Amino acid sequence: MSCEKFQEMILTDYLDRELSAQRRASLEAHLTQCPGCREFAEQARKGAVEPFEQLERLKPSPQLWANIKEAIEEDPQPAVRGALVDFWERLKLLFYFPRPALALATVVLMIVMLLAVLPKPIGRNHIAQVESVAEEEVEYLASLMEGTESMDSDGNGGYGTAIEEYFL
Ligand SMILES: [Zn+2]
Repeated sequence: MSCEKFQEMILTDYLDRELSAQRRASLEAHLTQCPGCREFAEQARKGAVEPFEQLERLKPSPQLWANIKEAIEEDPQPAVRGALVDFWERLKLLFYFPRPALALATVVLMIVMLLAVLPKPIGRNHIAQVESVAEEEVEYLASLMEGTESMDSDGNGGYGTAIEEYFL
């Protein structure tokens, strides 16, 4: 094993006293032979362990454990429920406009555009008997036919003209 590996081991499990007996024996055997790693282990121990050796180990009060136990028993599936609530909140953010006024303006604009695009078929039955409006209707159809002719000049030109003549 390389010095690098041993030094990594020193910084982690060795200082935490979590090394298995076998790995600990192999590390200590290396330390007796390698002055570099011995020095490294000494410095690591001084830097990482000694400053904390004088500190008292804090003991949480029994009341704290009682509070934690109570909180756990009150909420048997906190993780699942929390995830569901979180998911629902995200969904609402996706589908709800943050500003209701903007949503309303969008709906109104869509209705206005719809009415602008489909003005004739909606009122056709009511205005059929009013002559002036009927003339407008014919003009509208004629303008449609002109549009068709200009787009398709030699193909269906005769068809458009025939309908035009029928209405005019
Ligand atoms: Zn070494």
